[in-house]
Amino acid sequence: MYRNFRMVSYVVFGRGCYNQTKDILGQQRDKEKSDMVYLVDDVFKGAEFGDSIPLQGDDMLIWVNVDDEPKTKLVDALVEQIKGAMDKNPAGIVGVGGGSAMDLSKAVSVMMTNEGSSAEYQGYDLPKNPSLYHAAIPTLSGTGAEVSRTCVLTGPEKKLGINSDYSVFDQIILDPELIRGAPDEQRFYTGMDCYIHCIESLEGTFLNEFSKSYGQKSLELCREVFLNKRTEESEDKLMMASYCGGMSIAYSQVGVCHALSYGLAYVLGTHHGIGNAIVFDYLDEFYPEGVKEFRIMLDKAGVELPRGLCANLTEEQFEKMINVSLAMELLWENALGKDWKKIMTREKAREMFERM
Ligand code: NAD
Ligand code: ZN
Repeated sequence: MYRNFRMVSYVVFGRGCYNQTKDILGQQRDKEKSDMVYLVDDVFKGAEFGDSIPLQGDDMLIWVNVDDEPKTKLVDALVEQIKGAMDKNPAGIVGVGGGSAMDLSKAVSVMMTNEGSSAEYQGYDLPKNPSLYHAAIPTLSGTGAEVSRTCVLTGPEKKLGINSDYSVFDQIILDPELIRGAPDEQRFYTGMDCYIHCIESLEGTFLNEFSKSYGQKSLELCREVFLNKRTEESEDKLMMASYCGGMSIAYSQVGVCHALSYGLAYVLGTHHGIGNAIVFDYLDEFYPEGVKEFRIMLDKAGVELPRGLCANLTEEQFEKMINVSLAMELLWENALGKDWKKIMTREKAREMFERM
């Protein structure tokens, strides 16, 4: 059976296209549902861009803090806040920010129409009701969250997304001007998430021509962005690299790096981009060419990777880290094949974490 997956319905791309937001969202407003809820990364609070959000009528703007990556608790609290403030469902939810703000808006749009806690929907195809209309305005590129069918959440028991057709955005507004101001180091880490998506997809056993076509294009763009001098076009390229990288893994999977980095994230709270970069630097035996090129990019960006993350872990923390990581079965199978358990034993995973 081939997977029949949903894609983003509308895409607008180009420098300055953010200025069309009001018109684009206006098409979703009617007498019944007239208000939008914007979930905006609070890094823009008090900044010119934050002030430029085109609020109309009774639209709600909620600043979201992403110092911690999205938790099910925060999603539930946001849904409660919106329901408490509005007497009927809004016309839509708009996420403005990086992967975290985008994932929050996906999760909130699903939970506005589905009962219970978001923690009950961490998994595959669990939501029963279609989500509210939702749109994304990325301000950071690399995760591919703008095109993927998941929104990654940390819950009481696991770190796992709401993987559902209902998570997919109805509209994405891709304006390269909006990612220009991201701090260099963050731009690099989130960009490397994209680069690693490409390597893990292209080197994986699940690869097909669909994934390969997007993965190769994304990799080419990543190389232009991170191996060459920054130019006028760099942000356009990075934004499209993220889009294509996300499309590539839609039909394949990520691999060793993401599986190990999920373990770090769960136990230590390490953020996705930086966690992947830390792990990738230890993966020569799995992705020799990719790691070599990654180090050149790292050097060019002048970024120093943190070390010694696992130096003071307790036995219990190591066990948890290994459990979380080895539970990512599809990722391991994509990376190492059906017999992956013979290669990535608990001892091997432990030894790798100990080096980080
Ligand atoms: P992020 O959204 O967590 O943001 C990182 C930091 O950059 C934050 O401090 C944020 O405030 C700041 N920031 C964002 N845009 C900025 C801008 N233009 N100027 C200044 N600061 C800015 O980072 P990310 O790497 O984009 O996203 C990581 C998140 O995405 C994680 O939660 C991860 O789980 C998730 N993710 C989701 C998918 C998916 O398919 N849904 C895929 C990969 C990662
Ligand atoms: Zn990733």
